Amino acid sequence: MTSLPSADDRSIRDAHGSARVSPDWVRISYASAMALRFRSGRFTRPFDFGGINLLLNYDDGCLSDCGYCGLARSRAGAYEEKSFIRVEWPLVETDELIARMREREDKLSRLCISMVTHGRAFEDTMEISRKIRAEVKTPLSILVAPPVLNEGRLREMKHAGVDMIGIGVDAVTEALFHKTRTDVPKGGLDWNQYWDVVGLSREIFGPWKVNCHLLVGLGENDADLFGLFDSLASRQIFSYLFCFNAEPESRMADHQKSTIKRWRRVQLGKFLLEERGYGIDSFRFDGDGMLSAMKIDEAEVEKVVSEGMAFMTNGCPGEGGEPGCTRPMGSWRAAEEPRDYPWKPHGDDLAEIRAQLDLPEVIGDGGSYAQPTGRRVPPVAGRFAE
Ligand code: SF4
Repeated sequence: MTSLPSADDRSIRDAHGSARVSPDWVRISYASAMALRFRSGRFTRPFDFGGINLLLNYDDGCLSDCGYCGLARSRAGAYEEKSFIRVEWPLVETDELIARMREREDKLSRLCISMVTHGRAFEDTMEISRKIRAEVKTPLSILVAPPVLNEGRLREMKHAGVDMIGIGVDAVTEALFHKTRTDVPKGGLDWNQYWDVVGLSREIFGPWKVNCHLLVGLGENDADLFGLFDSLASRQIFSYLFCFNAEPESRMADHQKSTIKRWRRVQLGKFLLEERGYGIDSFRFDGDGMLSAMKIDEAEVEKVVSEGMAFMTNGCPGEGGEPGCTRPMGSWRAAEEPRDYPWKPHGDDLAEIRAQLDLPEVIGDGGSYAQPTGRRVPPVAGRFAE
């Protein structure tokens, strides 16, 4: 993506000194700004893009302080200058945004409002959701802020026409959650409360209408990840995978991201477990809990790699099950090779993926193969018409 930052619409104050905050103003992802012509620029490769991501905006920002996040309270810099997932999020007027979404509705696949931890976040999310629902039919997700939610508020969201709920669990073990999100300088979060909101959301929104965002590379091992993929699938809750990629000047700015080999194997194993029905017993982990073998028929693994779906961005689907939210910069920077693909990888992409996987190390050791179970998770990357 190319970037054309403008000082004017980054400022949180207008010409009269009034704060440009939610619900009247929201930030949108740079890719959304390009799709809705707030910004010029193009993707490194053309693909259909219809997932519009909104982020609430306040002059005192997000009141949480997660170690890896660009919006964390203790990260240096004024809030309006902070990036979120390493790119600029332009500030736009909500009414103008909704008008542009209505004009381009036929090209949109999924809308999402990301809440932040703030006292006004719930009421502002509801106001923006109701306005969107009155004007645009594209399915709406909310990436919620559990500290400001309860059962009644989740029911209000459902009643207002919200289709799916996302929960940014990010850290997949309680210890890591504590280290990165609870035991922090300012504004710690509560692991149990996050999981209470996951459970309530599942109860209220139903099967496959709730997802948990999970980060690879915060310090967890593969057994932690696969265990969570398995338990969430058994509850008919989606796992959406993200790759940790350090945000400059955050407290984890120097933390290394996962190796590409590990990341690709986690993507592949997750797909085999979820969408090909291989049970957790089909995967072997070494003494450090890292994936050491997949007891799965080589031809089946080969077929999955060749299809490429396993390596696409996980996200909420469009109305017809097609890829909806593809967050092009969710896990990698524009100057880097994709970690997850917002398009279906093919040709050179697949050759690269294959080399990165180094499959002979983890399959085909001659032992017996596991058989798939009957359980299938719906696609987390949507499906294209063949
Ligand atoms: S996948 Fe996209 S639409 Fe779904 S909750 Fe996450 S950010 Fe929102």
